[in-house]
Amino acid sequence: MEVHRQTCQLCGSHEQRNLLVRESGEPDKVFVECAKCHELVARYIVSPGGYFHAHRGYESFLRGVARSGEVMSGKKLTEEFEEMQGQVEARFERIKIILAEKHKVD
Ligand SMILES: [Zn+2]
Repeated sequence: MEVHRQTCQLCGSHEQRNLLVRESGEPDKVFVECAKCHELVARYIVSPGGYFHAHRGYESFLRGVARSGEVMSGKKLTEEFEEMQGQVEARFERIKIILAEKHKVD
């Protein structure tokens, strides 16, 4: 797995602000703004059902699924949520370890 800290191309800052944009009929988008020089750094398009909001629980997940227009049974949704939550949290722990190794001061 490769992990990269997002970097502003203009000022080199690693500090960014994610702006989540929702428009009906459009996939959710994330615009990344440099917190230092306020220029646009990147834009991401969130795939249907691909948004996971940590610490917000099952209801937040359900709203995301509803927005994506996907139809799933209640049982499957509960399983999907638990699986996604576990995977995302485990992956994030791994990402933090990789970043700490990569930016370790020798
Ligand atoms: Zn910048």
